[in-house]
Amino acid sequence: MSNCIFCKIINGEIPSSKVFENEHVVAFLDISQVTKGHTLVIPKVHKENIYELTPEIASKLFEVVPQIANSIKKQFKPIGLNLLNNNGEKAGQSVFHYHMHIIPRYGAGDGFG
Ligand code: 5GP
Ligand code: ZN
Repeated sequence: MSNCIFCKIINGEIPSSKVFENEHVVAFLDISQVTKGHTLVIPKVHKENIYELTPEIASKLFEVVPQIANSIKKQFKPIGLNLLNNNGEKAGQSVFHYHMHIIPRYGAGDGFG
């Protein structure tokens, strides 16, 4: 989708710090990290939200989340980790290309929650 910021990240029009990429999925650091290592995982096809994901796309995405989570754990050494997905403006969604937040946690005062 031509005016989607995450589609532009996928096709390299906008720079990002990619931490994972395969045929179906890209993961990159959030530009405004709520905690160190805050990462977004997105499908390469433009789908607005959870309601638009097909089982195939959801499966391709979730298939790689454990390995991305493990590499974040290894690199940033958080003591916990949240997965978060906002759907709809009223739920806090600001970019309308489906994305899963991976938010490493470092204890009280880590800036999230
Ligand atoms: P949402 O609020 O839709 O759940 O999350 C959107 C996320 O995308 C936000 O955490 C925001 O910081 C991130 N974001 C928005 N624009 C960009 C960008 O151009 N590059 C990167 N890496 N992250 C972005
Ligand atoms: Zn898009």
